[in-house]
This record gives sequence, C-alpha cells and structure tokens, in this order.
Amino acid sequence: MPNKPKILIKPSDASTWVSCVRRAWLDKHQSSTVEIDPFNQLLFDAGLEHEAAILAMLQTEHNVHKAHSVTHTHALMSQGVAVIYQAQLLDEEAGLIGFPDFLIRHESGQYQPADAKLSQSEHKKSIQIQLGFYRRLLANNLPAIIFLGDGRKVTLGDEINPVAENFILRMKELLTMPEQPNVRYSHSKCRICPYYSHCRPDFDAKEDLSLLYGVHGNAANHLAVAGITTITQLANSEIAAIPDVPYLKDPKRKHRAILQAKSFLTGEISQLNKVTLPEGTWIHFDIEDNPLTPTRERHVYLWGFLAPPYHKENFESVWTDDETQDYDGWLGFLDKIDAYRTQYSPLVLAHYSNHEKATIKKYAERYNMQNHPTVLWLLGNNSPLFDMQKPVLDNLVLPLQGYGLKDICKHPSLVNFQWENETSSAQWSVVQFNRFLTETNPQEKQQLKTDILGYNRDDVIATRKLEEWLRTNFI
Ligand code: SF4
Repeated sequence: MPNKPKILIKPSDASTWVSCVRRAWLDKHQSSTVEIDPFNQLLFDAGLEHEAAILAMLQTEHNVHKAHSVTHTHALMSQGVAVIYQAQLLDEEAGLIGFPDFLIRHESGQYQPADAKLSQSEHKKSIQIQLGFYRRLLANNLPAIIFLGDGRKVTLGDEINPVAENFILRMKELLTMPEQPNVRYSHSKCRICPYYSHCRPDFDAKEDLSLLYGVHGNAANHLAVAGITTITQLANSEIAAIPDVPYLKDPKRKHRAILQAKSFLTGEISQLNKVTLPEGTWIHFDIEDNPLTPTRERHVYLWGFLAPPYHKENFESVWTDDETQDYDGWLGFLDKIDAYRTQYSPLVLAHYSNHEKATIKKYAERYNMQNHPTVLWLLGNNSPLFDMQKPVLDNLVLPLQGYGLKDICKHPSLVNFQWENETSSAQWSVVQFNRFLTETNPQEKQQLKTDILGYNRDDVIATRKLEEWLRTNFI
C-alpha cells in the first residue's frame, strides 16, 4: 500500500503555486495564518457576490441543494439533484480534495463541475488547473463550466488535463520536500507576499542576482551556470564576459544590468544619456479607477490634474460618485482637456506609465468616440500625452528594485517627496472608493472623498516633483 499524503492538495493551492512554489511549500508546512489585506478582502467579497449572483441565476432554473460534507455531496449526486451548491469531493488515496462552487447534472446523469470566477479570461493557468482538478475528482469526460466575471459561460475539457496533472504531480513532490525549495526573487511578487520577511534576508545574504531590476529569475539561473552568481560579481563584469541568456541578450541590457548591480551596491545613480523633456506648459495628470464594477469594466472615478503654478491649491479634478456617471466623467475629462488646450499652447499632459493613455483609448472605444477631435488629438501623432517613466528608464539607472512613481519619489536620495497619507496607494484608493460607494453617513462619505482626492493630488504633485528633479539634475 502506498503511503497516504498527510496533507491534502486543494485546487485553491493552484494560484499560490503558479505564483511561487516556495510560497506553496510554506503554506503547507507552516501553521501560521496569513492576514488578508483590505484590497484582497475586497476582491474576495466581490468573488462571493459574483458566486451569489450565479447561485441566484441557477435557482431560477433548477432545484439547488447545498452540500454539507463529502458524504452529503455523494448522497445528493446519487439522488440525481439538478444542482449541488458548495460541493465537496475527496480522493483520499490520491490526497486530493476539491470544493467546486456547483455540480450541475448533465443529461447523461453525470455531473459537471462549475465555478464562478471574477476573471474575464478562461486562459488563466490557475483557473485551468482548478477546473481540471475538479474534472479529475469527478472522473468523467464532461467539460467543466466557468461563469466568468464578464458574463460569459465557457467550458473547458480534456485540453486542461495536462496542466492539472502537472500541478498535482509537482504539489505531491513539494509535500515530500523536507526543506523549502530554492527560488529566485521577484520584486512584483515578493514585496506583497506575507513571507517577504522570511525570504528576503536570505536573498540579501546571497546577493541574489534576481534582486536587481531587469535581471529576471531565469536570467539569473543562466548567469549562475556561467559562473556569475552574485551582484558583486556582476558589478565587476565586462559586457563581453556576460553570456547571452534569456532576457539578457542585448549588449545595452547587459550594460544596464552591470550598472544596476553597481547602483545596488553603492546607492549611486548612473546617467546613460542626457534627459530631454518636451517643451510647453506642463499639466500633471493621473487617474484613479475601480476594477470592481458590476460589469467588470474599469470605472475612472477620478481624473486628477495639477496646473501651473503647481501648488496644492492648483489641483483640479473630475470626480464621479459611481459608475452610472461614467460617461459624464469621461465627457468632463474631455472638456477639461479642451479648456487646458485653449489656455496653454503647446500643452504637455504628463503622466507616469502607460496606464493613462491606455485608459483614454479604452474609454474612446467604450463610447465609440475614436473620431472625437479631442480624442484624435490626445492619441494622435502630435499627442500632448507624455509618459514620464520613459525618460527615467531610457536614461537613468537608479538604486531601486522597481521603477514605479512611488519607488522613485519616496526614495530619500532621489526625489524625496512623501505623500501626506503614508499608507495610501492605488489599491488603497480603490478600497476607499468602494467604501465611499456603500457609505450612508454623509460626513463619512465626504471624508472618504476628501481622502481619495488628497491621495490623487499627491500623485500629481509627485510627478511635478519628479519633473523638477529631472530638470535640475539630468538635462
Ligand atoms: S517572498 Fe517571494 S520567494 Fe518568498 S514565498 Fe513569497 S513570493 Fe516566494
């Protein structure tokens, strides 16, 4: 008889495993509970709302029974009930347990697993693993169903078996590992991971190459094979001595990686080229948007601007109370742009990263206004939009692991601008806006709005401070 695994593998392990195998190992081997942050709580609650909406829809068509245990689930299946809600499926021998939101009886008498997912894509690896996992537990050939966040109902069949089988195999290997697996650092994943303080000291002690901006974990693995294993070694390398490895083939990238290693060790800035900035009157621009709308189409609740002479009082905004005012907000934004265009010529509409431009494109498509004169100007060849991340990335190597606006502006040796609310962030703003939507006390509601406006005002002041810092030091 094979040994039964002590710890059961669940489909919900898939999203952690896809993100980081060490995190999956730690989740299974450490007893500490991880506190959920407000933004993820908001996502979780939105997921439950979506599940409740699908449940209500199924209840209009079928008799739905809620399962209370694995045995009860099997009893309901034997009775042939139309829909089983919160089903529980166990394969003790294989060490697998799954909780599909629904089991829906097919005309053949067998059951199809179905999940409600906020995602708008059926191609996410973790979703495919979860649905494939349920299909394995049900051991029939029927496709699994997903009720996606954008309202689509899609099915997934045998094509997801390999990804689910691979997950189960790898998770079984992980469960038997006595030590945590070796992994590389990932700034986007690690800085928001609850195990950050557990993992980070070891990465630092090893001077792991993946700590460097622009050195992907896969590149670090290949560099290690070539004998370059630490940041110091990379900092002391010549471009010609660095082999062509994934994500690091271009000599310019190699040069940047060497400078990034030096900057990591010394805190010094390297300037690759002179910074050039567009001429004109600068208006600083930043948006706040809510992804958790009923339609899952992002709603911009705040279009914020900082106009000359760039004091706090010069902050201007277009605000909408909820997504029913989405169109009014968009028109308000276009009116604001027209007014600036009339007042200032030439106009530079400065923002940080591509998000603002991409959002304008999406709104133009949403309201079929691609040929509106202001939209054509904003997105055309003579666009006033200027992404301030570009001159930074093109010309500077900074002692940073990420080149986000807050990374650069908050750094005491760089721009050194601090937001009034130290804990605020884009996710914080979304959480506050969702509180604003449900708040019934007028004073509390007003306070939430004031706080969000204050955060956005500091965002546009930050891009102004960044502009000044670039002009003073790098032109
Ligand atoms: S901190 Fe990073 S390496 Fe450690 S478990 Fe989290 S994601 Fe994985």
